[in-house]
Amino acid sequence: MTTLSESAVKCSVCGTNSIVFTISSTNNFESPDLDSRPGEMERSTIDNWVQECSNCGLCSDDISMTASIDQQFLSSPDYVKQRNQDGIPEKAAQFMCFRLICLEQKNYSAAGWNAVHAAWVCDDEQINDFVSFREIAIEDFGKAFGSNQSYAQNKQSQALVTTDLHRVIGQFKEAKKIMESCISEFELEEPLLSIAKFQLHLINQQDSIIHKIEEAISFSNPS
Ligand SMILES: [Zn+2]
Repeated sequence: MTTLSESAVKCSVCGTNSIVFTISSTNNFESPDLDSRPGEMERSTIDNWVQECSNCGLCSDDISMTASIDQQFLSSPDYVKQRNQDGIPEKAAQFMCFRLICLEQKNYSAAGWNAVHAAWVCDDEQINDFVSFREIAIEDFGKAFGSNQSYAQNKQSQALVTTDLHRVIGQFKEAKKIMESCISEFELEEPLLSIAKFQLHLINQQDSIIHKIEEAISFSNPS
């Protein structure tokens, strides 16, 4: 069961108190997706992964502790534009605002994950912006890689995440290139090897649907 706690937190930029709900406990009864999105019930806690100050618009995983951001940054045209982006769910806009804050802090890994989270929100609401948000995430993860910031457990897992982002938006050529070089460069262990084989299968089928890790395991180890 997921339990949430309600509390009042003080915004670290403007000092306004906001009521937020934080996750006290949750669980994973289902397999994660290939891009590491957790299964239920953690999956449905996504709305609580980002907080927004109702006064100044600061978006962060903890608005009471957000370093090196000031009112001027939150009033900048880019931030204001992102906060008011039309046609996307409010939660996706909050993740993309949090992404801008992470970029300002030069945390490209966290920036990329916020774009992925915005894409997941759009997936759930069947809104096409999941494509551009995954493209943005790929770009951010590229910057993270170039700055020696890891965005997954190890380089192999990073390659698998990036492959899945490309595949889901139909960039099969790019996905295949990353997957093939990952397989030749690393001696993949389970479950990563099964996931890599399954990814290549999906890419060859031009399958851009979201799949779960358990499908990769059963594909590579048929009973
Ligand atoms: Zn504030």
